[in-house]
Amino acid sequence: MTGKNNFDVIIIGGSYAGLAAAMSLGRALRRVLIIDSGKPCNRQTPHSHNFLTRDGSTPAEIAAIGKEQVLKYDTVQFYTGLATRGVKTETGFEIGTDKGDTFSGTKLIFATGITDEQPAIPGFAECWGISVIHCPYCHGYEVKQEKTGILANGDMAFDFGKLISNWTDELTIFTNGASTLTPEQMEKLAQHNIAVVEKVITKVEHDKGYVRQLVFEDGRTFALRALYARVNFTQHCDISVQLGCELTEQGYLRVDAMQKTTVPHVYACGDNSSMMRSVANAVSTGTLTGAITNKDLIDESF
Ligand SMILES: Cc1cc2nc3c(=O)[nH]c(=O)nc-3n(C[C@H](O)[C@H](O)[C@H](O)COP(=O)(O)OP(=O)(O)OC[C@H]3O[C@@H](n4cnc5c(N)ncnc54)[C@H](O)[C@@H]3O)c2cc1C
Repeated sequence: MTGKNNFDVIIIGGSYAGLAAAMSLGRALRRVLIIDSGKPCNRQTPHSHNFLTRDGSTPAEIAAIGKEQVLKYDTVQFYTGLATRGVKTETGFEIGTDKGDTFSGTKLIFATGITDEQPAIPGFAECWGISVIHCPYCHGYEVKQEKTGILANGDMAFDFGKLISNWTDELTIFTNGASTLTPEQMEKLAQHNIAVVEKVITKVEHDKGYVRQLVFEDGRTFALRALYARVNFTQHCDISVQLGCELTEQGYLRVDAMQKTTVPHVYACGDNSSMMRSVANAVSTGTLTGAITNKDLIDESF
């Protein structure tokens, strides 16, 4: 695919949110281009859970079924590549890619997800999404009542500890350095048999991503089956910000209840604009975004 094409809508990001938006738009007879670089955030996870009808499927299977169903609509086209450039034009937007192609569209949807920043602990990144997990609703059931750790400090450690105590009684919080938990929080955690370890972690030892033990600065170890962690994130794609879209204090694209960003004719859905990180939420917000984008196109031309 080369050269310019005037699409009704360009969707950057062709994972769950982008495909769901394309489904709504394709069924609304809109000419849609999805541009996708094939790097969803959950690609290292062996099984995805808690998405109705696909519980336990691999992330790639869910996306492949979605893509097949969406591309049955002949108004939807899928372009494999990285969007690298975006500019506002008189009639909409022009998007350039790493392959040197340029596309134009009236409306623009960002379904680009976020990038998780892995802490510099050897072994951590290899276990990410396999036994180092971010969300109990996605993976907690599979490690229920197992020896489990939480890598966090302060208020986040306390809140995470309280939440995860729903899934296991064998819980330890690792603050990876001096604890910033308050005495009241420490007391409450102790009442629930949640220990706090302040040692600095030097390594996560694992078998093909399945954690065996944490190794500390003093050479001692702690055996575990699962480690919960919330890591920092950045937007996977910064074209939205270059176009002037505002971010929230947490770093999400700011959207209203209709998934509209702060820039007219630009929408966002999925992980890039929501704290509720799940395939179901990506599909839900994507579906809404497609419908709202179509409604705006109708309103503007009727
Ligand atoms: C490790 C892990 C495990 C998870 N497990 C589960 C689970 O079991 N169940 C569950 O419901 N949820 C799970 N989640 C959450 C779920 O994966 C996300 O909520 C979901 O993937 C968000 O979908 P999305 O379409 O918004 O973003 P993503 O799936 O991250 O997709 C974003 C897409 O945009 C593309 N993209 C980004 N920038 C560009 C660009 N400039 N040009 C072209 N393409 C671009 C990327 O390549 C990617 O394909 C997990 C998340 C993680 C990190």
